[in-house]
Amino acid sequence: MPILTYCDANGDFREYAFSDAKPILLRAPERGAARFAAGEGQPLAVITRAKVYQVPLVVNLSGDSRVRVNGRRVVGLRVLRQGSRLQVGDLEMTFWEMTLQIVAAGSTLVGRRCPVCRLSYSVGDEVVICPRCSLPHHKECWFEHEFCSNPGCLYPIRTTLKRVLAAHGVVIEQLAANSQLVTQSMRCAAGTPSVDARPFQAGQYVAYCPNRACGAAFHLECWVSMGNCPACRKYDVSKLLRSVFTPNTPPYLGEESAEPEDAA
Ligand SMILES: [Zn+2]
Ligand SMILES: [Zn+2]
Ligand SMILES: [Zn+2]
Ligand SMILES: [Zn+2]
Repeated sequence: MPILTYCDANGDFREYAFSDAKPILLRAPERGAARFAAGEGQPLAVITRAKVYQVPLVVNLSGDSRVRVNGRRVVGLRVLRQGSRLQVGDLEMTFWEMTLQIVAAGSTLVGRRCPVCRLSYSVGDEVVICPRCSLPHHKECWFEHEFCSNPGCLYPIRTTLKRVLAAHGVVIEQLAANSQLVTQSMRCAAGTPSVDARPFQAGQYVAYCPNRACGAAFHLECWVSMGNCPACRKYDVSKLLRSVFTPNTPPYLGEESAEPEDAA
């Protein structure tokens, strides 16, 4: 589900999770304490979704100059993106559209089944909770699909993933029939037994290794479940996804995950 993160008056890191079921009203915070949906007084702003493409937006209801996104005053409305810095009154928050969490011991997720693969969640699994319907999915079962598996929800996963990762230098695209990967019968190097025996096919979605010296192509479903890139061994996709989708995680710039080359 989408969350806002901020530091409270004591400087402690806080998370506020909300669902798309109802728009979230943001009021002027008092003495640094965030006041979200509840409370007295006129809201300064509201977070909602655009009818078209369901893009998250902040609407400045009050015209107050202290409603800002990434430091710029919001006149009317502004699109929120993963990691946008949102200011309402004196409070600075970070907006997270999708979040990736690791199932902890004692979590209510343990023993529940993923709606895609039907396997139960175990401690240590990486899980995404749908921003719209709150249904949890395994990381791979979420990111490799176009829409949320809940037929009543159909949250647009792929368009959101493409948009968010484009800001991190990741290209995700659907292969055309005249793409080189198809015409030259190239194969995905991930080594996933079920899909990688065949060369790339038109219509498949691919993601490229963000390491510019590499750029290897992978099926999107292989890429989202990858750790270190098997082609260059210098870019760890699981670390990238964690840094982009998990609040309070340092940014991942690639390279530092390089493993020492085997001695020749
Ligand atoms: Zn699953
Ligand atoms: Zn959903
Ligand atoms: Zn593959
Ligand atoms: Zn690579």
